[in-house]
Amino acid sequence: MRGPRAERRLAAVARRVAMARLPVEDWWTPDQRGLVEDRSVTWRRQPWRARDAWVSPNGAARPYEAFPDSAQPPEGMRLVKGGWDHDHCQLCWEKLAEPPVGQPEGYTDCAHRWLCTACFERYVAPRLGPRGGE
Ligand SMILES: [Zn+2]
Repeated sequence: MRGPRAERRLAAVARRVAMARLPVEDWWTPDQRGLVEDRSVTWRRQPWRARDAWVSPNGAARPYEAFPDSAQPPEGMRLVKGGWDHDHCQLCWEKLAEPPVGQPEGYTDCAHRWLCTACFERYVAPRLGPRGGE
């Protein structure tokens, strides 16, 4: 029969073993690793949709949220409805866009960061525990 101390020790070992099995890539930047391991981020699976963009006279675009209502965009930029036509997976750089250009859906946080479904399932979902994502 095992006592409570032995049970706690076994639970700690089981946690370390589980952590050691979580996939980690040595090519991740610190930001990428932080994104994968930050459990305060709420990821939502959703279809990718074009967003409004600020476009400069030379065609350079920034997403609308780069200059929200409270911030003035640089001189000469104009707002183009649906002008932000893709994002990239923050881990593998897969393109997310409306069909047929890229992956039509993925996972996003509230800061317009996107992960492709494959990266979410491989790297983030195992870290979320039994409750998983949405
Ligand atoms: Zn990816």
